[in-house]
Amino acid sequence: MIYEDYYIFTPGPVKMSDEIMEVGAKQTPYFRNCEFSNVTYACEKGLLEMVNAPEGSKVIFLTASGTAGMESVVMNLLTKDDKALVVHGGGFGGRFVDICDVHGIPHTDFVVKNTNLHDIESLAPKENYTSLIVNAHETSVGHLYDLGAMGAYAKKNNLLYIVDAISMLVTDPVDMSADNIDVVIASSQKGLALPPGLTMVILAPRALEKVQDIKSLYFNFKDYLSNGERGQTPYTPAVTIMLQLEARLNQINRRGGVQQSIKKAQDISEYFRASIKDLPLKEYTPYMPNAMTTLTPTDGKSAMDIVNGLEDGYKVMVCPNGGAERDTIFRVSHMGDMTRAYTDVLIDALYDYYKIERK
Ligand SMILES: *Cc1c(COP(=O)(O)O)cnc(C)c1O
Repeated sequence: MIYEDYYIFTPGPVKMSDEIMEVGAKQTPYFRNCEFSNVTYACEKGLLEMVNAPEGSKVIFLTASGTAGMESVVMNLLTKDDKALVVHGGGFGGRFVDICDVHGIPHTDFVVKNTNLHDIESLAPKENYTSLIVNAHETSVGHLYDLGAMGAYAKKNNLLYIVDAISMLVTDPVDMSADNIDVVIASSQKGLALPPGLTMVILAPRALEKVQDIKSLYFNFKDYLSNGERGQTPYTPAVTIMLQLEARLNQINRRGGVQQSIKKAQDISEYFRASIKDLPLKEYTPYMPNAMTTLTPTDGKSAMDIVNGLEDGYKVMVCPNGGAERDTIFRVSHMGDMTRAYTDVLIDALYDYYKIERK
């Protein structure tokens, strides 16, 4: 199998635990029955708890990649009468801009650099918006935004606050109630550490009120919401990934709950960053999530060469960037089933690659 015996530090798909992989190895069951409805209910309940969703919130389960979650939210919740402020700090922010373009939603392309938007109040264009859209962790560069400050701004200006939490759920805090978040988008293959294919949209009551009648069969939220009442989806769900999600939510709770998972991710990311201090690498942004570390070579080496060197020499997979950033940054994920010992494999590989002794 490709890359089966490699060490995985890519930001999606991420390292999965044996327990979750075992669920994936079983026969996929029939799903139009009470037994599977109970799985759906358990997944919904677990996700709502994880993000501290307000009373009356609902989860939509889409069999699709995360981008479908982003696009379907824009399609179902925004209209030509809206005006969205779209945070654009990298490739995923740019994708939300493209989605608004495709669907004719009026928006401002809010290009952001060198800030986590704790100062959004002063930076945001002074226009009348109806919605604020952000990728909580802009995975293309490893930049985490201040969800609380943005939530306060959204509340003050009465904006529908849409947060793509795909690559920071389980490793970094998301609190819909505390931060006034109306929509959270999650996807299976990043923080949740499951195979790709399942995307979840969590809608708070304010968002549920905004769900429109739209011209789409597959992405029609009203259809998902009415089927969701009986624990079902309109079309065949990613049955096995939902079983894995149920197991994963139980695993997180067994290990002390999501706060404990966040603490563990923080410990591992800090351990990694402290351990590589003697290498010619520097942190790309001061606003890093626990989920990932983005590094810039300081000795003129190409980031892409380092990525290839780790893969070819040590069976260690980290993530390159493309385009203009090909030579300047690479990314190391701390999402998924990580331990200090597993992270040591990467740290040792880096020291060996540089021919520097690890102290
Ligand atoms: C990975 C990711 C997505 C979704 O990408 P897909 O390839 O469609 O699953 C969306 N937003 C963020 C922030 C991501 O990291």
